[in-house]
Amino acid sequence: MPNVFPEIKNGFNFECTLCGDCCVGDQDVLLNWYDLYNMAQFLSYEHTGQLFTEQWIELVQDETQKVWRPKIRFKEKPFKFCPFLTNELDERNELKGYCQLHPRHKPLVCALAPVGCRYDAQTHNTQFILVPPTEDCPGMNRPKFNLLSDYLTGFEKALHFQAVFFEALERLKQHGLSTTQFREHLYSFGVASPFEQILATLIENLNQRFQINLTAEFPTEKV
Ligand code: SF4
Ligand code: SF4
Repeated sequence: MPNVFPEIKNGFNFECTLCGDCCVGDQDVLLNWYDLYNMAQFLSYEHTGQLFTEQWIELVQDETQKVWRPKIRFKEKPFKFCPFLTNELDERNELKGYCQLHPRHKPLVCALAPVGCRYDAQTHNTQFILVPPTEDCPGMNRPKFNLLSDYLTGFEKALHFQAVFFEALERLKQHGLSTTQFREHLYSFGVASPFEQILATLIENLNQRFQINLTAEFPTEKV
């Protein structure tokens, strides 16, 4: 994620109007392990591999060009849109965009928007930055003030899982893995167990295979 977005110190003005614009067009909805787990559960799949074979997701290289990340595969016709977007007319006959994954299965990047996460691999901390969901997002700078601490309430676990995921990607950068290896060793797992168990198994397998010495409880340095 570019460094141009400002860090959120205390809070920010924002109120979503449900216009749905951030769910259409050239958006990259990047997913982490926990998002894959939630999406597979929402679709009643037993394995995240089905998200690939049924074409809900695809892999893209991140900006460092060293790791591959899953993202939602947008539909192309009649225009580009997220397959989980549904449009409905509200009581005022205005078209609203709703996310089928909301709230329990929604990807973290969507659930937190416009709060973006920038992971610092040196300190193991996540910095929260203000990322307008679209250039003209009508929700930005509305009068409603959101305290960052309130906004993040309820996402503690998901943020921790994401930090472990980002740390895994950091440690794998030097291994030059192929797309197939990423898909096979990081993004394909059964979803029948609680996520904590799945995470432990993923970590164990990655450590065995690539000696990255990852734990789910790596120390966090205060900045
Ligand atoms: S573009 Fe902004 S206002 Fe519209 S749905 Fe997305 S976050 Fe909400
Ligand atoms: S997952 Fe939901 S919120 Fe995210 S882009 Fe798709 S429809 Fe929009």
